[in-house]
Parts: sequence; C-alpha cells; structure tokens
Amino acid sequence: MLKIGITGGIGSGKSTVSKLFELLGIPVFYADTAAKTVMQTDSILVDAIKTTFGEAAYTNGQLNRKYLANIVFNDEQQLLKLNALVHPAVFRAFDTWVLQQKQAPYVLKEAALLFESGSYKMSDKTILVKAPLSLRISRVMQRDGITQQEVEQRMNKQLSDAGKEKLADYVIQNNETELLIPQVLKLHQTFLTLAAQ
Ligand code: ATP
Repeated sequence: MLKIGITGGIGSGKSTVSKLFELLGIPVFYADTAAKTVMQTDSILVDAIKTTFGEAAYTNGQLNRKYLANIVFNDEQQLLKLNALVHPAVFRAFDTWVLQQKQAPYVLKEAALLFESGSYKMSDKTILVKAPLSLRISRVMQRDGITQQEVEQRMNKQLSDAGKEKLADYVIQNNETELLIPQVLKLHQTFLTLAAQ
C-alpha cells in the first residue's frame, strides 16, 4: 500500500487539505487523534506512561490529562519523553489501520509532527502544506479563540517550514491565492500513477 504523509505547521490547513483527499475517497489516518486514543487503549503505552510519570497519570483507568499536561508543558525534556513513548504506539495503530484499507489505491497519514517524530521515514512520499505566517496566526486565533501570543507559543514548539520543506517531496500552497482543489487533484493523479506501478 502506498503511504503518503501529510503535514504542515499549525494553521497551515493540513486538516482542510486532508479532507479534500477524503472527498476523493482516500482514507486518512489522523495521527494526532490516534495519539489521544492510544493513550487510553494501548496497554503497553498505558503501563509505560504510569512507570514514567506516576500512577496518578490515570484515574480509574482514565487518562488524567491535566496531571500529565502540567508535567510535560512545563518541561521540554518531559515532553520529549512522552512523545518517545506515544509515537511508537501511534505507529502500531497506523500499521493495523493500513491493513484494513485494502480497497484504497493509497492512504494518507496526517501528522503535525510527521518530520519531528521520524514518521516520514515510514511514508513513501510526503506533502507539506504551507501558508504565510500571518495567515496561519489569524486562522488559528479565529478557529481556537486564542491570542496571537498563544498561537506563537504553540508554533515555537514545531520545526520551521524551511526545515520541513527540505524533507518534503511535495508542497501545497494554502495562501488563499492559489486554489487548493487543483493542487490536490494534481497530486491525487500523481499518487494514482505511483500506486499503479
Ligand atoms: P492544526 O495544526 O492547528 O490542527 P491545520 O494545519 O490542520 O491546523 P486547519 O484546521 O485545516 O489547519 O486550518 C486552520 C483554520 O483555517 C481552519 O479554521 C480552516 O477552516 C481555515 N482554513 C484553512 N485553509 C483555508 C482556506 N484555504 N480558506 C479559508 N479558510 C481556511
């Protein structure tokens, strides 16, 4: 199965672009949603989180998000530790999910940290969705009802677009000047051709 990774900085529009591929019948695995699920359902991961961050990370079998957020969002090292535990569990969930997509010509994996997590190495091709910084900030402020400073804090945790572009095979410009749908259709054709080879 041809696997395409898709990423982009916060507010770049990667979810919007992924939904366009879904409209074309392409299954999309949303890694960030999966990460939340596996923290609840993957017993290997649950045990590892309890061992690393304490039994209090779960209350009556439910992830105590507040407790964990308090640890990892105040200490970069702890966040790296958590990511190092969660990413392999998401990879496992993705592999299981791919096996269920037998009818599809190819699949997409949408991940905010595609490059940072090393997940791109397991993708046959990668797409970077790009948008100007000012547009990304205003989109996220509007979508999430947060301040410019809060958006910038989130952005600072991610690799820059320039860093991502070096690793990406294809770039989609989501700058409200170039139309999205023709760009998606063109890539869809490229991937159908690749999948048929
Ligand atoms: P995050 O990493 O925060 O999840 P994202 O890269 O997935 O962000 P989206 O959620 O797809 O980004 O887009 C951010 C916001 O901008 C959304 O509210 C979306 O509807 C809007 N948006 C994205 N692309 C466009 C566009 N081309 N025209 C108008 N609005 C757009």
